Amino acid sequence: MYPNELMKILEDNAYVRTGGSPEELRCAHYLQDYVSKFGLNAQLQPFDVPMAKITRAELTVDGVSIPCTGYLGAGNYDVEAPIYYLRDTDPISLANAKGKLVLLDSFVGYWKYQDLLKAGVAGYITCNGSLFLSDRDIDQKEQRTYVHQGNRMPAVNIHAEDAVKIVRSQGKLARIVLEQEEWVGQSHNVVVDIPGEVEDYIAFTAHYDSTHLSIGVYDNLSGVAGLLYMAEYFAKNPQHYSLRFLFCGSEERGLLGAKAYCASEENIQNCILNINLDMIGCLMGKFISCVSAEEKMVHYISAMSAELGFQNDAYQGIYSSDSTPFADKNVPAVSFARNALRSMAGYHDRYDILDVMSGEQMQADFEFVLAFAKRMAAAKHPLFAREMPENIRAKLDNYLGHKRMK
Ligand SMILES: [Zn+2]
Repeated sequence: MYPNELMKILEDNAYVRTGGSPEELRCAHYLQDYVSKFGLNAQLQPFDVPMAKITRAELTVDGVSIPCTGYLGAGNYDVEAPIYYLRDTDPISLANAKGKLVLLDSFVGYWKYQDLLKAGVAGYITCNGSLFLSDRDIDQKEQRTYVHQGNRMPAVNIHAEDAVKIVRSQGKLARIVLEQEEWVGQSHNVVVDIPGEVEDYIAFTAHYDSTHLSIGVYDNLSGVAGLLYMAEYFAKNPQHYSLRFLFCGSEERGLLGAKAYCASEENIQNCILNINLDMIGCLMGKFISCVSAEEKMVHYISAMSAELGFQNDAYQGIYSSDSTPFADKNVPAVSFARNALRSMAGYHDRYDILDVMSGEQMQADFEFVLAFAKRMAAAKHPLFAREMPENIRAKLDNYLGHKRMK
């Protein structure tokens, strides 16, 4: 594939495609059509996802209305309580939070949510955006099922500028009104197989959904283009190991597609390796390889980079992407990405734009990933153990909400 063809994939799908939406499905169909040009067949594998439509979201502080978006999936409320700026979720800050509507300037993930529940807060207000940019976009957040596990609470999101105003004016009393319709919908993984000599297979993953404010080109049509690039090569060049290309749905909603896939023992039992692409091929930035496997893989990738003269920062860790559910099942996993400064290449906002993407850089990055993939696919025995080192296991357990890291 040529650089202009890679850019065309980004251009063709540069629209908001949130998990479970008709737009996400439209992109799934595009991928099906695309791989058919290589003589490959793509299956859509549906999985259930919670859906919601906000019909009313209001926040007032001391009688003044603040623009906000409601948390999807959080339920319906009309609640009034003192407002409290929760600077951190340390015991001292949390001691003052009981019964309050707390204002946070951080992401509420699994453990933070548990802290808020335990502290007995009345609800929470998060914020996004920058004081220094002209847009006043307010992101559409979600109270995720695996985070609340049935214990839901009122929540809205506001712009950072309003958060600062509330703190400066020492806001006293807040009211949240939230109304929404909720139902169960479907998202899809798009699965393409290239059989090899054995059933054991390598899983290539890249998510194709976006967040609400973003057309998701860097994050992650770039990774999607990378999978198509490799699928084209391997369609003509089958290998010792079987290869599976998995375009994941609803990654931005908490890795839901990869989690649904990895929940099946049948899916995962023959998987020897996961190669994940998420945010790659940007004109700017440095290449990274985040390895969730034994340290041997870090050394292997570093040596290969030196051999090919390709800048690459390889390290052991976990990547907030579809590689993580694979690693959780003890499948050696690696995420390849090109990290650019956020002030040059945005994501999850309106600044994830085509202008900073590069067909030439995508091609160069994909050639490197392909070089690694070819070595792995042609090997006669898996190079890396199907087990997680202790340091990675602790990070996985913390990230996925199994066990909190000290
Ligand atoms: Zn992503």
